[in-house]
Amino acid sequence: MDYLEAQVFEIKHWNITIVENSTCWSRVHAHCDGSRKICKWRRKNSYKSLFVLLHEIGHIETDVKGMKRCEQESEATRWAVERLRALGIPIKRKILNDYKDYTKRTYERGVRRGLKKKVKSGLYI
Ligand SMILES: [Zn+2]
Repeated sequence: MDYLEAQVFEIKHWNITIVENSTCWSRVHAHCDGSRKICKWRRKNSYKSLFVLLHEIGHIETDVKGMKRCEQESEATRWAVERLRALGIPIKRKILNDYKDYTKRTYERGVRRGLKKKVKSGLYI
């Protein structure tokens, strides 16, 4: 599988702008303000790089006002997995589990800050 090819296709298909020299905060992140920008993502011919990209596009495609942080992470990952399936690329458990764990941690942090526990039933974790 040529992951670079899939990345180029997805960036075009979803009308995404990659901002490599972004001046915003340091981690890779998506802008869900309609600008469809993804900052700090590094193009690399690897499965991981493709998954990270799809997760970030997933944020842009699934963002709904009022979603909790854990719900945002959950939906972005769910979207990335659906997209990999659509592209005919296998799901690698290791990286998917890393993202699920990340969602779990944002959920647990939410609970510590007063989030209702019933949110968990809708999460992709
Ligand atoms: Zn995310």
